Amino acid sequence: MTLRLDVPRELALERAAEIVAEAWRSFDQARPTEPPIDERLRALLDAALPEAPSSALEVLEDARRTLDETIAQTRPRFFAFVASSGLEIGVLGDLLASCFDANLAVWAAAASEVEEQAVRWVAEFVGFPAGAGAFTSGGTISNMTALAAARERAIPGARSRGLGGVEAALYCSQEAHYSIERSAELLGIGAANVRALPIDEQRRLIPEAVAEAIAADRAAGRLPVAVVATAGTTLTGAVDPIGALADVCAEQGVWLHVDGAYGLPAATTPSAGHLFQGLDRADSVTLDAHKWLYLPKACGVLLVRRRGDLAQAFSHEEAYIPHERSGHMVDITLEYSRPFRALKLWLAFRAHGAQAFRDAVEENLRQARLLYELVEAHEALEPMCGPPPLSIVPFRHVAAAGDLNEHNAALVRALQDDGRVWVAPATVDSKVCLRPCFVNFRTSDDDVRALVDLAVELG
Ligand SMILES: *Cc1c(COP(=O)(O)O)cnc(C)c1O
Repeated sequence: MTLRLDVPRELALERAAEIVAEAWRSFDQARPTEPPIDERLRALLDAALPEAPSSALEVLEDARRTLDETIAQTRPRFFAFVASSGLEIGVLGDLLASCFDANLAVWAAAASEVEEQAVRWVAEFVGFPAGAGAFTSGGTISNMTALAAARERAIPGARSRGLGGVEAALYCSQEAHYSIERSAELLGIGAANVRALPIDEQRRLIPEAVAEAIAADRAAGRLPVAVVATAGTTLTGAVDPIGALADVCAEQGVWLHVDGAYGLPAATTPSAGHLFQGLDRADSVTLDAHKWLYLPKACGVLLVRRRGDLAQAFSHEEAYIPHERSGHMVDITLEYSRPFRALKLWLAFRAHGAQAFRDAVEENLRQARLLYELVEAHEALEPMCGPPPLSIVPFRHVAAAGDLNEHNAALVRALQDDGRVWVAPATVDSKVCLRPCFVNFRTSDDDVRALVDLAVELG
């Protein structure tokens, strides 16, 4: 037995390329429905560990079926969650990165320098004076990494001694992403010490509430570690007032982290850029290029103002990581073995230019405003919030009679069973609603209208 395929590998590659080309053509338009899992695949799913080899072309065909019968976030009418678009050049970047399989844990020559350059480009793109940064598996790990650095800065030596009885606290809006709570759990801060603070009528964290919570914790002998401003909440796209929060943080000497995993690319646009004023004053910033920069997962980016903050929290001396060369990335990252995720963003910026990304994000912002107008204009539909700050537009269908929460939960199920559009439900102020989010460069205005038409038709 050898690890050679039964056909020339060039032939397998050609078939894989055909599958990709076919998928790309199919993604150009919405398809009429989501296909069910077919019988062949069902049978395969019962198979035990294969001992004998199968034909490479046959197993590729089974991969194609599997993917075709999977909910593809890349399709233009997938509006649930904060999806990815699988930008073509990024897909090719992943193929190439995976082929050469560099390890970005340690110094890797050109790939390391490209990662550093891509970090600088992202920082320049969004307007943040980064001293360092790294590509991560996503917002969760970026947030955790930033907060580990904040913890070490607030409590020097915490990484080795533990918190030693110090009661530390984090501050964020009640609509911050749950990865902040998870970070508190894992960093020994404790989820109970995450102050999930009140929001204003536009669902933004109230800076005065942060100042008060910090003062109350200080008075009780607790130690503030970081304030997290969410720049685009996952529920409604609210952007916390970064500048005012930076004032509070400067006054209090507390780390400011901006979680822009979803929303930060909008900082580069004419219509939403002003919402991000003060970003350049943060200590650390999270952005997911696999969300609103359209790249395939995983492509998280963490930026920090001072490289030393990451090194303080993460550098290690190990017998198997010789430091004869400076700058192993593992000295500033949470992960060890790391794929060359930066390549796809580096290629995307080069192949398209930064302006194409600003334009695509602006287009999604416009589509959100279009949906908001259509919802407002329709008597059977009702927006849950005011005009969308970014590209999320929660709304519900108003039935003549019955429980509106049950009605809208049932409507989402009906829409998913129908398959022409894909939305997920959410709850805004205890009201169940549809929560579409526009982060796909393939989405057209017709796709936006189809969502409204179908919600009305099936509602
Ligand atoms: C999606 C999201 C995250 C988590 O990012 P992952 O890449 O899924 O780990 C964190 N914060 C916000 C605001 C998000 O929208």
